[in-house]
Amino acid sequence: MMECDKEKNLENCNCTYSCDKKGKCCVCLKYHLSRNELPACCFPDDVEKTYDRSIAKFVEINR
Ligand code: SF4
Repeated sequence: MMECDKEKNLENCNCTYSCDKKGKCCVCLKYHLSRNELPACCFPDDVEKTYDRSIAKFVEINR
């Protein structure tokens, strides 16, 4: 099993929400997909700050 390189993952994390999943990308992705959402890193910083992580929002900004 691959080891999680949390510190390296955090270098590319733009999430501004206070969350214990930060840096644990597999847990983060699973959580958001279960809610029909995507992780913070799928959104530009200005949209990330709204905390709207819905797939609908992702489609809207990528039309
Ligand atoms: S994107 Fe979501 S699950 Fe991931 S660290 Fe941010 S708030 Fe937590």
